Amino acid sequence: MSQEKKYLTTASGAPVGDNQNSITAGHRGPTLIQDVHLLEKLAHFNRERVPERVVHAKGAGAHGYFEVTNDVSKYTKADFLSEVGKKTPMFIRFSTVAGELGSADTVRDPRGFAVKFYTDEGNYDLVGNNTPVFFIRDAIKFPDFIHTQKRNPQTHLKDKNAVWDFWSLSPESLHQITILHSDRGIPATLRHQNGYGSHTFKWVNKDGEAFYVKYHFKTDQGIKNLDPKVADELAGTNPDYHTEDLFNAIEEGNYPSWTLKVQIMPEADAQNYRYDPFDVTKVWPHEDYPLVEVGKMVLDRNPENYFAEVEQAAFSPGHFVPGIEASPDKMLQGRLFAYSDAHRYRIGANHESLPINRAKSPVNNYQRDGFMSHDGNGGSAPNYEPNSFSDAPKETPENKISPYEVSGFADSVPYDQDDHYSQPRALFRDVMNDEERERLIQNFADHMSAVTREGIVDRQLENFYKVAPELAEGVAAKLGVEVPASVKE
Ligand code: NDP
Repeated sequence: MSQEKKYLTTASGAPVGDNQNSITAGHRGPTLIQDVHLLEKLAHFNRERVPERVVHAKGAGAHGYFEVTNDVSKYTKADFLSEVGKKTPMFIRFSTVAGELGSADTVRDPRGFAVKFYTDEGNYDLVGNNTPVFFIRDAIKFPDFIHTQKRNPQTHLKDKNAVWDFWSLSPESLHQITILHSDRGIPATLRHQNGYGSHTFKWVNKDGEAFYVKYHFKTDQGIKNLDPKVADELAGTNPDYHTEDLFNAIEEGNYPSWTLKVQIMPEADAQNYRYDPFDVTKVWPHEDYPLVEVGKMVLDRNPENYFAEVEQAAFSPGHFVPGIEASPDKMLQGRLFAYSDAHRYRIGANHESLPINRAKSPVNNYQRDGFMSHDGNGGSAPNYEPNSFSDAPKETPENKISPYEVSGFADSVPYDQDDHYSQPRALFRDVMNDEERERLIQNFADHMSAVTREGIVDRQLENFYKVAPELAEGVAAKLGVEVPASVKE
């Protein structure tokens, strides 16, 4: 067989004689089961889709690099952050949260901001959003919350009653929904938005000292947002508007970048800080913990193949490297399990060995077998431990997590603090200007005007009143209703 011309083959490598005409019994006769190329082609086509993500289904991705620009080695021993100038390849996937795989990009929704750093010590994933906080603060509420964001079980329509029923009964959502209904709820492009790690994480240095950190990726393109009417139009005329913008910008050499900054809290401060530092509905005000620069992330390469690189990308908040650990944030703790579990269901037990997910440093362990084990499966090496083979993988005690003390009773308990109001109030009164406040009130009213179930609007107005009376009054006026008198007493 000549190797000069690339020839078409079946999946098992046999040359294909005809890819345009199936084999039939005579010119007008039925198709023969003997046409194994046809059978394979149709059967593979039927299996092209993997289950879409229940959340963050619609995404766009890009490759790039992260470069350290400031020495943070006194706070973390993470090798990829160890010296100024060090570069680490990375991959990012942006996404909307609630919509399906083919849904519109320009909806009002948080954007996923998931970064995979291919470090020399394994992959580090920072799986955040374009918002610094979240709607809820305990993973046990997540499936219920997402059900309200998806489709009604009877009508299969988006259900504003469910959305506002849940939010009005979960006042910890006030901070996030204030951000979501502000101008930043619909970014102009994926390039013109910040990213946040959202949770608190732990950094540990070479001496074993621990610090809690919050990550902020500040866009170097500047913040730009879409007018909701323009966004609505684009959702109809070009539902892939953000995906297209990102691809074209990179293709044209207009590489987007973000400056990574962190807030750093010494471990001892966590005990007495005025906010619970593990409550993901709260930020740490900058005056308490200023931003410290870490480095720059640049996106400079588009994926070659969307399915292989973006759809099969598997991020997990549980992918840590030495020097970076989890905090006891209850939302994070649930996500440590849920993300890898979703990928095991979606793309299988061996998804970590797919090219986009495979660590660029060695992977050596005693896990074996499972569907689609396609990388040699550990060959003839031992598949158990302890073992007496000197060349088999060994644990490294210096990489154990940093120990920390816990006390109390095992119990189902709420967070100690119930101040759901002061931080959205600071955003509304101190950060936003008059025009931004007016647009926020309009956006809330537009969204809530579809609520028909009794009691929901009143309950939400009471919540708004506790944030700021003028916010509640403003939304009520636009809805043509009164703020319930009971909340004013
Ligand atoms: P600062 O005045 O120091 O910072 C205000 C922050 O708000 C900036 O990070 C700014 O981002 C961001 N911001 C501006 N408009 C919006 C918006 N519509 N949605 C979300 N973020 C926005 O204030 P404090 O640190 O004292 O915090 C005051 C309030 O600002 C907080 O209660 C919180 O609601 C909000 N905020 C605080 C953050 C923090 O980590 N401290 C992070 C993000 C928001 P940028 O600089 O990129 O313009």
